[in-house]
Amino acid sequence: PGFTVAIVGRPNVGKSTLFNRLLEQRKAIVDDVSGVTRDRQYGLADWNGKTFNVIDTGGFVSRSEDVFEREIRKQVKIAMEEANVLIFMVDVTTGITDLDADVADLLRRSAKPVFLAVNKVDNHERQLEAAEFYSMGFENIFFLSSMSGSGTGELLDAVAELI
Ligand code: GDP
Ligand code: MG
Repeated sequence: PGFTVAIVGRPNVGKSTLFNRLLEQRKAIVDDVSGVTRDRQYGLADWNGKTFNVIDTGGFVSRSEDVFEREIRKQVKIAMEEANVLIFMVDVTTGITDLDADVADLLRRSAKPVFLAVNKVDNHERQLEAAEFYSMGFENIFFLSSMSGSGTGELLDAVAELI
């Protein structure tokens, strides 16, 4: 029970880094290696006096591109069922990838609110590059650096407003 926020997106965009920041404890394991197997993580977060569940949709390892895509789709579908709000994370350093576009297609079919979180916006130059993500057509878009925490407050404010 309670309000649940799920962080979805392809591997290595920074989902677990944000998850750790929301929990302010080292529950999820952040790894430098893209696609390393990680379980789904569940945690409790507090913001503006509100408490909510957070799901970090974990990674998985795959030899084949097919299985990889299928697994991401599965994770997103589970998150769409379990969560009240979806944080869809993308990475400014790679720009929009085919996998991002796949996830976006799934999320557009969701009746639940989707917040597009453009991550790794660590500096002004990247902020300019991040404008590319407006083309994905999500109404709620946030630019953040999960690593430094910049911009995460605005995202959480928007999430907490829905509780
Ligand atoms: P996940 O696979 O989506 O859970 O991504 P992780 O949270 O494991 O992060 C993948 C890599 O991106 C790690 O090396 C992180 O340190 C790095 N990373 C995460 N957030 C940021 C950020 O805001 N800026 C930068 N420069 N790197 C980040
Ligand atoms: Mg992760």
